[in-house]
Amino acid sequence: MKIQIITLFPEMFPAVLETSMLWKAKDKGLVEYNYINLRDFGLGRRKTVDDTPYGGGDGMLLKPEPVVAAIERAKQNDPEALVILPTPRGQRYVQSEAKALSKATGLIIVCPRYEGYDERITKWIDKQYSIGNYVLTGGELPAMIIIDSVVRLIPGVLGGETSAEIESFADDKTIEYPQYTRPEEFKGMKVPEVLLSGDHAKIEAWRKNQQS
Ligand code: SAM
Repeated sequence: MKIQIITLFPEMFPAVLETSMLWKAKDKGLVEYNYINLRDFGLGRRKTVDDTPYGGGDGMLLKPEPVVAAIERAKQNDPEALVILPTPRGQRYVQSEAKALSKATGLIIVCPRYEGYDERITKWIDKQYSIGNYVLTGGELPAMIIIDSVVRLIPGVLGGETSAEIESFADDKTIEYPQYTRPEEFKGMKVPEVLLSGDHAKIEAWRKNQQS
């Protein structure tokens, strides 16, 4: 999967994408991360990417010309890619969306900044997602969340291919049962007896009961 990220701050990404499973996925050739610096598409000598909102109001908005030019460049690299916009106006991002995106051959993720973007860019967007009811300073962290949740679902990334099917939110709702590892007793707290019993049916029943 080719993942292209349109951002004013490409330097935010490597710490996340070049670590652990996300790096391994790249190392195995299962995913490729490319950064497109929105500033390169800025207008004029000063490479302007933002302007004040019509109708007044605080802050600046991303202008449509640089954003659309950057999307078009990314589309030239990968015409089939899905174009994603993180935005509080989008549908809530949930596990089933991550699963659907993991089947795409390519993603282009646009990361707005400032007070947002000119709404006309949405004509070039396939999916708009909100990652929750709070406001962040830019689309980079939502982009990383989307990338992390998608890449781990690409076959070959996790190793145990069934693990993504039995973990939390497989149905967008249910949360996995609590888990324990050694030691059997830690600061007076014991591992539930049933998990030490070796009785797989009982363990299965306990786990089902503990899911919420
Ligand atoms: N003025 C906007 C509003 O009130 O909805 C907030 C803009 S926010 C400061 C800048 C950008 O960060 C947004 O355009 C979006 O790309 C991203 N962002 C912030 N919070 C987000 C969220 N909960 N989900 C997805 N993207 C978010």
